[in-house]
Amino acid sequence: MPRRRPLLAGNWKMHGLKSALGEAEAIAAWAEANAARVGVEIALCPPATLLPLLRERLVGGSLRLGAQDCSAEAAFGAFTGELSAGMLADAGADYIIVGHSERRARHGERDADVLAKAENALAAGASPIVCVGETAGERRLGLTLDVVRRQVRGSTPADAPPEALVIAYEPVWAIGAARTPEAADISRIHGVIRAELAGWLKAGRADAVRILYGGSLNPANAALILKAPDVDGGLVGGASLSAASFTAIAAVYGL
Ligand code: PEP
Repeated sequence: MPRRRPLLAGNWKMHGLKSALGEAEAIAAWAEANAARVGVEIALCPPATLLPLLRERLVGGSLRLGAQDCSAEAAFGAFTGELSAGMLADAGADYIIVGHSERRARHGERDADVLAKAENALAAGASPIVCVGETAGERRLGLTLDVVRRQVRGSTPADAPPEALVIAYEPVWAIGAARTPEAADISRIHGVIRAELAGWLKAGRADAVRILYGGSLNPANAALILKAPDVDGGLVGGASLSAASFTAIAAVYGL
């Protein structure tokens, strides 16, 4: 079975002016000093406005950078306000988050849109972080596994190289909510996602795909969740805005 290097990715969402670059640099300094030692890869997904600035400042460093979304359009064109995966990779994105629940809910993105974005990310040489997860209502109706399986098949390119693919299981009801599923439930759902990928990816090798958990991760709950079986890292929203809390989460890998 391939050893998967855990990935801890921060999603700053619509937070961060140039004055926040110092916080990102503090995260980069932590990654430089500790990430290899504790065996974790650290990535930060700032707003696209900060991406090229950070890339220039962190040249040669070990902090990976990501974007929070990309266009479903592959080529240059008359798409006012959109950023292509190629532009984001050119600006420094190693990763591109696609299908975040805030985009699915606020912008009506469907699985087919997310799939196109993930394909564009891969074509641009960036790894897509494909977000899946059930809403509170779907959970109440016992639909969690159906929703997650459908989203995995609908949003993930079947021909993706498994090593380049990241899935983030983010139950919508846990995002920014100060509550999370039990660690055992997260492990079980990650197992279901991996089994689904095994039947979906043309290359097989679902063992090589990293599956992250996201939703209200913080320094207090990180050890329990991130060390649970089949959890290959985390996607962190609110707690990634401060270098102190984000690096406290990362530090659980050294425990
Ligand atoms: C997210 O939105 O991807 C996320 C995980 O947010 P939070 O950590 O704030 O719940």
